[in-house]
Amino acid sequence: MSDIDGVGAADAVRRAVGAVSDPELRRPLAELDMLRDIRVDGAIATVGIALTIVGCPAADRISREVTAAAASVPGIDEVVLNVGVMSPDERRGLTEKLRGGRATREMPFGPDSLTRVIAVTSGKGGVGKSTVTANLAVALAERGLAVGLIDADVHGFSIPALLGLTAPDGGAVQPTRIDELMLPPVAHGVKTISIGMFLRRGDADGPLGAVAWRGPMLHRTVQQFLTDVYFGDLDVLLLDMPPGTGDVAISVGQLLPHADVLVVTTPQTAASDVAVRSGLVARQTGQRVIGVVENMAAMTLPDGTVLDLFGSGGGAAVARVLGDDVPLLASIPLSPDLRRDADAGIPAVLSHPDDPASAAIRSLAASIAAAPRGLSGRSLPMRPL
Ligand code: ADP
Repeated sequence: MSDIDGVGAADAVRRAVGAVSDPELRRPLAELDMLRDIRVDGAIATVGIALTIVGCPAADRISREVTAAAASVPGIDEVVLNVGVMSPDERRGLTEKLRGGRATREMPFGPDSLTRVIAVTSGKGGVGKSTVTANLAVALAERGLAVGLIDADVHGFSIPALLGLTAPDGGAVQPTRIDELMLPPVAHGVKTISIGMFLRRGDADGPLGAVAWRGPMLHRTVQQFLTDVYFGDLDVLLLDMPPGTGDVAISVGQLLPHADVLVVTTPQTAASDVAVRSGLVARQTGQRVIGVVENMAAMTLPDGTVLDLFGSGGGAAVARVLGDDVPLLASIPLSPDLRRDADAGIPAVLSHPDDPASAAIRSLAASIAAAPRGLSGRSLPMRPL
């Protein structure tokens, strides 16, 4: 092969390798400035790439795909791969690029952002808020939307387990870090970050215990999730909020006053009062309550009997009290499959799509995806916090 051919072939290899996507950043290597020296000598391609960090968990996959891409170029029989690591300066350039040129620590989900932010809240724990949020996120991703999920339920984080983001030691899968930027693990198309990913199993405050953090630390954590996690361009960002009206609800209200809020409640009227309160507090910060989701509603048994363990009417009652513009968006029945799949870390919307609970969550996703995002109907903050 002549020199000219070598150059032409090297260009072809560069194009092929450059199109390989980084599995965590989900962008082509060329765009991420990860390509280095690429040469072709006869039928041998020598390909240099620079990984973002030492011990990059995606290293094996990237190496495999780069080698395959280079080998797919006509005339290449052998690929020699040189894998290096970016210099601190190169990494800084990359993180800046990923932040879209924004100054470090600037929040990408401000009022001008195209991402719809939806905080999922409930009056009390145990109503199935996290289970619904995880399944809703997956159902939205299944519809082709780019979805991020922040587990802000700092005292009862369960999202990693619900989505099967469990490491071999039983703890949550860790996000990869590029300097200060964190790459959220992806489960079923949903980019997910949780406080449970930052606690080691066995810590006093570890995944099996409660996080005994106080307000300022919680505020910083939520802020860090919003600023230092690389979500890329999202259509929807869901936040699984802690139940009630505590510190995190106030922080999220301050950081994301333009967020939409979904209130989850059971059909039990005793649960509705506290659910109403969480909706009202969200509204005080300027957030808009877009609807109520009733979970654990009556299920129909195989013999046709209707089992309404938690009574009925709670969801409609909460929606009514929250105002004329707040609809009851879904009533999700009790479902052994939803519960079992949640325990197994598999979203039921994928594994049991025809289950009545999955169907209700998928139609909730459809109505959220169809609803226009905008300022109409948004109440202004009633008092500064
Ligand atoms: P929360 O986030 O409100 O504290 P979880 O999502 O952790 O609640 O759910 C509490 C428990 O209820 C879990 O064991 C979950 O599997 C179960 N669960 C949630 N929704 C349903 C449902 N519709 N049918 C049956 N079990 C449910």
